Amino acid sequence: MLSIQGTPTNIKTSIIGRVLKTRKNPFSRRKSILVTETKKQSDFGYIATICKDVSSSQEASSISGLSIHDLQLLHEGDIVMIKVDGTVSVLWEGNNQNNAFLLTTACDCRCLMCPQPPEKDSFEHLEIAFETLKLIDKNYSGEICLTGGEPLLLGKRFIDFLDQCARTAPKASIILLTNGKKYADFKFAKEIAQLNLNRLMHCVSLHADVDDLHDFIVQSPGSFAQTNRGLYNLAKLYQRIEIRCVVSRLNAYRLPQIAWYIYRNFPFVDHVTFMALEMTGLALKNKEKVWIDPFDYQESLEEAVRYLHRGLLRVSVYNHPLCLVSQKTRSFARKSISSWKNVYRKECEGCREKENCCGFFETSGDVMSKHIRPIS
Ligand code: SF4
Ligand code: SF4
Repeated sequence: MLSIQGTPTNIKTSIIGRVLKTRKNPFSRRKSILVTETKKQSDFGYIATICKDVSSSQEASSISGLSIHDLQLLHEGDIVMIKVDGTVSVLWEGNNQNNAFLLTTACDCRCLMCPQPPEKDSFEHLEIAFETLKLIDKNYSGEICLTGGEPLLLGKRFIDFLDQCARTAPKASIILLTNGKKYADFKFAKEIAQLNLNRLMHCVSLHADVDDLHDFIVQSPGSFAQTNRGLYNLAKLYQRIEIRCVVSRLNAYRLPQIAWYIYRNFPFVDHVTFMALEMTGLALKNKEKVWIDPFDYQESLEEAVRYLHRGLLRVSVYNHPLCLVSQKTRSFARKSISSWKNVYRKECEGCREKENCCGFFETSGDVMSKHIRPIS
């Protein structure tokens, strides 16, 4: 989530509003936050203003002292949250077709490569998501990603949010990132299926073809069996399913076996993805155990992708720069990294494929392949 820091004036509690960069008449200012270089006397009626110049008014809620560059990071239609300490966080990007809601930080796994270490839940996340939902454009037709932690742990409150989300943005595609364990409970899975959301994709993580390896990766015994049961329950309920396999040192050379396992046991899934690591959070803490240069497992990845593709399963490769996968795998690689944390290296200048390449996670810092070479 993109965040910038300014000086708060009269911010007594968190404020969530929609960014306006052009001034509107006083009747259209409700729930809006004006972003401008210099605030004018006539700028009243907005729930807050965000500006460059330090505020002279002690009355209105504002964030000031931001650079022009910071102001340019905010766009018309963004939904932002202003906190009492002067932080401005972008919750929803108005000009982006890929937006996400973080619904909880709690999780019933503790994956060795989790980029966002699970924490005790704070209900704040769901409340913020509900508030944001009220402000989004009803005609939004991009993708909404529901993520955590493990969103399904919210139980009934998750189902309410999902329902609200689908009603608010009926043209949007919803992708739910989950470890799928809660779907082992058929009754719960059925409650979600009964919402009849044909634009919902359940993206279930599965990192191995055998229980001991998967359970070790997710650091939770019994998870493999639960996730498998969950996948079958979703299939019985005619749900759309994507399987996501995060590739680490622990499973990189078993990708063909994992592909075989998926093909044999879950031929009903809509999509399979192999994802490279984001080296932050627990992944960074467990670097010795999990980090592997994608260049080193390119043959294993190619074999897995080819196997699924020949079996007529739709397969993609996420977060893998094109120069680190084999030539035959390149057409399966997608630009999958969220724009706000997507960077390229100096080696990428002059690369013929930069437009088509996903680049890198900024959050991975210096943990980087030694084989980045421009494609010419
Ligand atoms: S990667 Fe997902 S399932 Fe694993 S600990 Fe993190 S949030 Fe939970
Ligand atoms: S050099 Fe950079 S842009 Fe080109 S393929 Fe490699 S990572 Fe992608």
